[in-house]
Amino acid sequence: MKKFLHYNKPWLDEKEEIEIIDALRSGWISRGPKTSEFEKRFAEYLGVKHAIALNSCTAGLHISLLCADIKPGDEVIVPSFTFCATANTVIHCGAKPIFVDIDPETLCIDANKIEGEITPKTKAIVPVHYAGLSCDMDKITAIAQKYNLFVSEDAAHAIYSTYKGKNIGTISDTTSFSFYATKNLATGEGGMITTNNDEIAEKVRIMSLHGMSRAAWNRYNKGGSWYYEVEYPGFKYNMTDLQAALGLHQLAKLETMQNIRTKYAQMYNEAFKDLPGITIPKQVEGNRHAWHLYTLRINHDILSINRNEFIEKLNELDIGTSVHFIPVHMHPYYRKTFGCNEGDLPVTEKIFNEILSIPLYPGMTEDDVEYIINSIKTIVNKNSRQRVSYE
Ligand SMILES: *Cc1c(COP(=O)(O)O)cnc(C)c1O
Repeated sequence: MKKFLHYNKPWLDEKEEIEIIDALRSGWISRGPKTSEFEKRFAEYLGVKHAIALNSCTAGLHISLLCADIKPGDEVIVPSFTFCATANTVIHCGAKPIFVDIDPETLCIDANKIEGEITPKTKAIVPVHYAGLSCDMDKITAIAQKYNLFVSEDAAHAIYSTYKGKNIGTISDTTSFSFYATKNLATGEGGMITTNNDEIAEKVRIMSLHGMSRAAWNRYNKGGSWYYEVEYPGFKYNMTDLQAALGLHQLAKLETMQNIRTKYAQMYNEAFKDLPGITIPKQVEGNRHAWHLYTLRINHDILSINRNEFIEKLNELDIGTSVHFIPVHMHPYYRKTFGCNEGDLPVTEKIFNEILSIPLYPGMTEDDVEYIINSIKTIVNKNSRQRVSYE
């Protein structure tokens, strides 16, 4: 029996352990010098003016919308083919998410369908770089400029992604990254907002720590002042030095981890590109893919088993999988509150029924990848309507 291959696993080693112990012994177990250092190195890495560390990407998406002054009565354009946080944070501001369908190839928001959904109430767009492939940012930026909309990128999958050679995180008003346990850079829980705008950066810093005037976190230090003012009823969204201790070393080895992800993704691409009944992920020339997820799509005209049965068969072979994502508009809250229904977003719904994510993370071995490839080829071979055989 082979060991069960989990769909995902963080890649932590001794360096992170030593840094965590250092944080514990320093006494800085909430926000402190390691968080500042992590912010500095993150901003340098991307080539962006400001990086503000938070306790999650969700916090980043929420604060970004508050910086855009999103309030009840406003509308925000989002894809439905995403994690619920992208739309939930619109609701946290009292506004209404307007779901736009995805491009059937890139699986990112279809920039050609955005303009048709804009009303006088529209205030912002939240594009999601699905799986680590960038959205069409030129088109999105042009629409945002034309209608004076704020752009808050959801880059939970997109550290290391580029758009036409530019790093994701350097383009829009704000960009939010996730360091959740399954993400490419993992600190357990954690997030970061990046921006080149000084005013937005200042607002994010204040709102992520109770709305207290700047550098309040430093108030217990020598030279720090006990005095602060609350400028806004802000949130408790700051990162801690325990998370930053992990982040510092995860960032240092990001390149190495990304090289492994890319190598494994290429092995999958090579193995599956000509396999009938299977569609591999799209890549776009000039946009570097971060390979946060490796997704396959099942063609139900060619295979006699559906996506759920495909997942079952992989599970029997000890291969873990997941589905990204159950469209947000199909969840009960969204159906009940906004009257969302099946049929609203035909591309999103069709792709949801075809898609699965297979294991891809740096801690896997090449043997693991080969085992998954062979298992998938066998399943396809046995369940093809055309009964063709490969190799
Ligand atoms: C993971 C994820 C989030 C939320 O990130 P957290 O850091 O867990 O808050 C948001 N959007 C997308 C697309 C995600 O995959």
